[in-house]
Order: sequence, then structure tokens, then C-alpha cells
Amino acid sequence: MEHFMSSVKQKSGLFSRWKALPLWVKIMVGMAAGLLTGFLLGPKATVLKPLGDLFLNGIKMLIVPLVFCSLVSGVTAMKDTSTMGRVALKSIVLYLATGAIAISLGLVIGYFFAPGEGMHMVAQTQEAVNKAPSMIDTLVAMVPQNPLKAMVDGNILQTIVFAIAVGISISLLGKKAEPMQKVIESGAEIMYRLTSMVMSFAPYGIFGLMAWVAGSYGLEVLLPLAKVIGAVYVGSLLLMYGGYSLILMAKGLSPRGFFRGVLDAQTIAFSTSSSSGALPASMHCAENKLGISKSLCSFVLPLGATVNMNGTALYQGVCALFIAQAFGIDLAFSDYVTIIFTSTLAAVGTAGVPGAGLIMLSLVLTSVGLPMEGVALIAAIDRILDMARTCVNVTGDIMVATLIGKGEGELDQACYNSAGESESGSARVVMG
Ligand code: ASP
Repeated sequence: MEHFMSSVKQKSGLFSRWKALPLWVKIMVGMAAGLLTGFLLGPKATVLKPLGDLFLNGIKMLIVPLVFCSLVSGVTAMKDTSTMGRVALKSIVLYLATGAIAISLGLVIGYFFAPGEGMHMVAQTQEAVNKAPSMIDTLVAMVPQNPLKAMVDGNILQTIVFAIAVGISISLLGKKAEPMQKVIESGAEIMYRLTSMVMSFAPYGIFGLMAWVAGSYGLEVLLPLAKVIGAVYVGSLLLMYGGYSLILMAKGLSPRGFFRGVLDAQTIAFSTSSSSGALPASMHCAENKLGISKSLCSFVLPLGATVNMNGTALYQGVCALFIAQAFGIDLAFSDYVTIIFTSTLAAVGTAGVPGAGLIMLSLVLTSVGLPMEGVALIAAIDRILDMARTCVNVTGDIMVATLIGKGEGELDQACYNSAGESESGSARVVMG
């Protein structure tokens, strides 16, 4: 009996110690345990996938109401349309500029790593199939014919456009629209609270997802393409910890504080491979850990989750060169310029969901006449690459929000400096 009681005490001690750990530590433990379990169990690890699916469903459940309510609140909090216009312009310019830097880095890494050299592949089909939508189609489709359908379908870009339009109308109407504004603001608060609840399940969901990925890919699939995986991972690390650090330092911000503050969002992005899925976590980190004002976060981050794809751009650079090398095709200087241009713009049309970048890769390949078979090669390991590129995408979104926050005086510097140590919640709510 005594033995039983002491073992119960020991267990409850362990449990409360586990509970007291910071979320990012728990997520890291979940990730490592999941990978280990997956490699040990092999394909049998699929039984753990429902745990991951449960978590994924939880965050997907949040996306549409969270984006809509927080974006409308963000727009109405900006009070004057000139602030909003300036923030929107800054976001788009920074997202496109960092995208162009990312793809250029991807090309340089692809050139020096030469992951496809010596593969001697032969293209079967001459005709390239372009499955990706054109730029014009993407732009026209941004305005929803039916906003409810856009929300039901989870179309984030259309939901953003509708939310911005509703926000502007509420601001223009003033008093008359106040009741609706209050309802939506309260809705946003509810969604933030729900986000924290879903996030506390992250370590277990991520355990299930990692076990499934490791178990279903196994080392046999990963080894032959290890060089491409290595190139994408090295490029991602260089871009985040080198490129972003330099940009932050140029703005007088400490990279250390930034990277401590974004860790939760990065781990969620890495394990879910979805920028949209990681959006609740990015908003939580940006506001509570980095001290960016709520209204700015709710405007810049949903936009970033759909428009900004730095990691995807980098991956497309590496993969385009990998495919060119594998099929023995020489690219001219003009081809590199075309790749940079197409890939930067393709990012706008890439949805923040798993695997979207692979479809956009076909657009980039078509633009310079590279064979579509290359996509099949990459598809085998795409999930592994997707984890890294999504992590960069999300980090880039938050980095741009931080830069704009600093520029607009919407960054709580004390909170930023102590990022990761405590959840301040002191981020200001109203902008302007
Ligand atoms: N999975 C990526 C994201 O959600 C998009 C991609 O496939 O590149 O950010």
C-alpha cells in the first residue's frame, strides 16, 4: 500500500512538473518523442495520426472566425484610413522584398550545393503541364462573390478582403455601426481565449503528427534525396537566423528577443506545415511575447499568412536548380531572373496549407521550361521540405509585423526585450 501511495505521489509530482514547463519546451519534447516513436514503429505509427488530426482540426476551427473578427477589429482600431493604407503598403512591399531575397538565397544555395548533379534523369514528356492558376485569375478571385461561401470553404484571401471591406465600412459609419463593432470585438476576444486552449493541446497533437511523418517516410525514402533536404534546411536556417537577424538589427531590434518570442509559432508551423494553421499561434506570440499591438497583429499577420511565403520561395529556388541539374539542363541568366520574378509573385497565390508550394513549383518550372517530372521527384519528400519552409514563412510574417510595429510605434519594447520569459499581455490594443 505504501509503495502504491509513493508511486502515485511520484507520478503526480512528475505531472505537475510537466504542467509547469513552458509551452515551447513541451512542444519540443512532443516533437522529439514523436520522431523517435515514428522511426521505431515505422508505418505502424499511423495509429497515432488521429492525435495530430484532432489538434489540426482544433486550429482549423479557429482560422476563419479568428481572421474575420480580429481583422475587422484591427481595421476599425486604426481609426483613419491613411494609417491603414500606409501599413498595408509597408506590409506588401516588405513581404515582396523579403520574398525576392529568399528566392535569390535559394538559387545561390542550389547552385553551390548542386543537389541534383550526377542524377542523369531523362524527361519523358516535352510538354509541361501548368496546373497552377495564373496571376490575373488569382487577383480577380480575391474578391468573393459570396463571402459566406468563402468562409465556409476556408478561403482566407477572400475572407481577408471581405473583412477589410467590412472594417472600412464600420469605420466610415461611426456611431451607427457601433453595436456590430462591439459584437465583432467581443468575438475576437473569444477567439483569442480559444486559441490559448487549443494551443495547450499542441505538444500531444505534434507528437502524433511527428510520429506519423517519421513513420511513413522512413530513412529509405529520405536518404537518396538527403542533399535537397539538406540544401533547403541549410537555406532556411541561413535566411532565418542570418538574413532576418541582420534585418532586425538594422532596425535596432535584438534577434535574440525575437527568436525567443516566436518559438511556439515556429514549432507549430514546423509540425503542421500550414501558415494558416499556425496563424492563431503567430498572433499569440506576436502580441503577447513580442509586444506588437493587437490591431497591427490582426492586420499584418493574416495578410502575411496568405501573401508572404519566404520559405516557399527559397524552396522553389533550390528545387528549380535541383531539377535543372538532375535533368542536365543549363539555365541562362535570364532564366534565373524569371525564376525570381515568378516565384516572388507565385507566393501571393500560394495558400498557407500543406503542399501548396509543390503546386506552385510547377508554375515556376513552366516559366523556364523545366520538366514536370521534377515535381514527382520532389513530391516524395515534400512534407519534410514543407515543414522547414512553413517555419520560415511564419517567422517571416512575424518579422515583418515586428518591423512595421517598430516603425509605427506599435511595439512594446520592454515586452519585446523580455520575450519568452513571461507572457506580458501588455501589448497595446489601439493603434494610431
Ligand atoms: N505549407 C506552406 C505554408 O502553409 C505553403 C507551401 O506549401 O509552401 O506556408
